[in-house]
Amino acid sequence: TIRTRFAPSPTGYLHIGGARTALFCWLYARKHQGKFVLRIEDTDRERSTPESVQAILDGIEWMGLDYDEGPFYQTQRFDRYRELIQKLLDEGKAYRCYCTREELDEMREAQRARKEKPRYDGRCRDRSDAREGVEPVIRFRNPQDGAVVFDDRVRGHVSFNNSELDDLIIARSDGTPTYNFTVVVDDMDMQITHVIRGDDHLNNTPRQINMIRALGGEPPVYAHVPMILGSDGARLSKRHGAVSVLQYREEGYLPDALINYLVRLGWSHGDQEVFSREEMVELFDIDEVNRSASTFNPEKLLWLNQHYIKESEPGDVAKALAPLLEARGCDLSAGPSLEPIVVSQQERAKTLVEMADNSLFFFRDFDEFDEKAAKKNLRPVAEAPLEAVKAALSSLEDWQAEKIHAVVNAVAEEQELKLGKVAQPIRVAVSGGPVSPPIDQTLALLGREKTVERIDRALA
Ligand code: GLU
Repeated sequence: TIRTRFAPSPTGYLHIGGARTALFCWLYARKHQGKFVLRIEDTDRERSTPESVQAILDGIEWMGLDYDEGPFYQTQRFDRYRELIQKLLDEGKAYRCYCTREELDEMREAQRARKEKPRYDGRCRDRSDAREGVEPVIRFRNPQDGAVVFDDRVRGHVSFNNSELDDLIIARSDGTPTYNFTVVVDDMDMQITHVIRGDDHLNNTPRQINMIRALGGEPPVYAHVPMILGSDGARLSKRHGAVSVLQYREEGYLPDALINYLVRLGWSHGDQEVFSREEMVELFDIDEVNRSASTFNPEKLLWLNQHYIKESEPGDVAKALAPLLEARGCDLSAGPSLEPIVVSQQERAKTLVEMADNSLFFFRDFDEFDEKAAKKNLRPVAEAPLEAVKAALSSLEDWQAEKIHAVVNAVAEEQELKLGKVAQPIRVAVSGGPVSPPIDQTLALLGREKTVERIDRALA
């Protein structure tokens, strides 16, 4: 079976690039009825934080990328790493290096002076004596001849000469394992068949392959996915706007829209833009991922978000909308049910934030009217129609959109006003501002009591 893994380091939020890697790993596993493994690479204790772990778990859950195994934590696997470091030492495939910092500095300086690339020259390889007072690091004995070659599923044939790879430190002097070693051990132990990751790791791959072979394993298949750039061609970062997955949740994006956007970053299927999850799983293939970097386009993501808001089941949109309203201080039990609110705005809203902001008045009273809208639509301009509407609505028998519509129409006719000259004042009166769903639906949802109360307040 195919086994992929997503292996983030919890040193910050889950960003767009990581999310896309996770998506590709998930898709590939799902496509082949394989397993998707989540592994938290938290050995850098200074930079790893529990908040970041949580943000990664939340982000993955929000995107709906369910994993079959994990999360595994590297910090819980130190015994295993130690065991294999000892094994390599016992077999002569790793050795203790007693070089001091000064010595290493000197070595590199001399190399620079000879116009060579600074690298560890292996001087402790054959050393048999310990050095008093120096806690050694442990280095992997990298092969000195030949080349490491592999067929990367994105980049094609890749080759590195062993002569360019020096003997990597696999354990620090305090005994803790280093990054490349833990990745290798975990990829082996977790029987990962396909390593899909960012191409910033490409240079680690030949070292990792050598270590896997030294440990008696078979290297997995690699697929190194290119970077994501901002519109200015620089690597995507905070200054290009939101790059954290959870920030998109806060800004009112649906996970389906983000997933759909991410799958198209570096992969395509003809000129199709919209993919259901099922279609993605069916159509995606790692071999078809583009070799060149892709550019992040926030407008396109927004466009997809609007599409998904419009096309999704109202119930699903309502579920996503609820936490946004709650975060804005709304007591959801104090207002109408969310589904009809969603339906009344689904055609227009670009984000759930927009939908939430335009729905606050259903759940809580507002403190002030929008100044401009009030001046234009409330007293004294619309006193007469508002009074008439209030009287008619107070005695309306069935509180339903159609009936409300008829009332508003009748008042407009009676007062010889255009419909908007009646509807807009009502809107401002009940919502506080100039935007809301169609007025009949708005009032139907808001209820008679609040409607009359707020018209009163506007007339006061
Ligand atoms: N932990 C690494 C990172 O977050 C990924 C390592 C890997 O995928 O091999 O960049």
